[in-house]
Amino acid sequence: MKIRPLMSAAVIASLFVGGMAMAAGGPKHGGAGKGLNQVQSTELTDIETSDLQYMREEEKLARDVYLTLDQHWGSQTQVFARIAVSEETHTSTVDYLLRKFGVEDPVVNDTIGVFTNQELQALYNELVAKGKTSFIDALHVGGLIEEKDMRDILVAISQTDERAITLAYSNLLDGSKSHLKAFVRVIEAQGLTYEAQVLDAEEVRLILDDESQVED
Ligand code: MN
Ligand code: MN
Repeated sequence: MKIRPLMSAAVIASLFVGGMAMAAGGPKHGGAGKGLNQVQSTELTDIETSDLQYMREEEKLARDVYLTLDQHWGSQTQVFARIAVSEETHTSTVDYLLRKFGVEDPVVNDTIGVFTNQELQALYNELVAKGKTSFIDALHVGGLIEEKDMRDILVAISQTDERAITLAYSNLLDGSKSHLKAFVRVIEAQGLTYEAQVLDAEEVRLILDDESQVED
């Protein structure tokens, strides 16, 4: 069952190439009478805007925590370094959307561990401190970030009707599922059992049991 992720990747690729043409011809802009000027840019709602800005920094937080924890535990696992690369593409994807919709980028300083959103700043500080205390704690920090990410993405998906945003979010969601599985594999290799931290236990079990995900 590897068809779905491959298809969504192809759809997203085509969207990034022809996205503007598609948006201009889509039903949202249909029905304009002759002689009426069509509005070229799409206005996002306040919620769509703040969700995008939050997601931009939430993906950066994942990248920054993993890069920092890789400095501490990189000799024991490559999982943080590997997933940090993926988070860099995720935060860049959201940056692309911010530009596409003319939304201000909250990342004014791309330095590791620096955030505009003070809630995310505090979370970064807390998670890095926890992750440095032990290797197992670090792996659970990874699991926590991925579960929180999925919860937040699902909420954001429910609050937008922009196809470009929905598709990008679903790509981020696929990434988070795969990352959670990767962290849990390392935790289980230590002889431990992973327990849900943010999502329902059943939701986490469904994610971990799903073998259709692409690895990244
Ligand atoms: Mn991500
Ligand atoms: Mn992730």
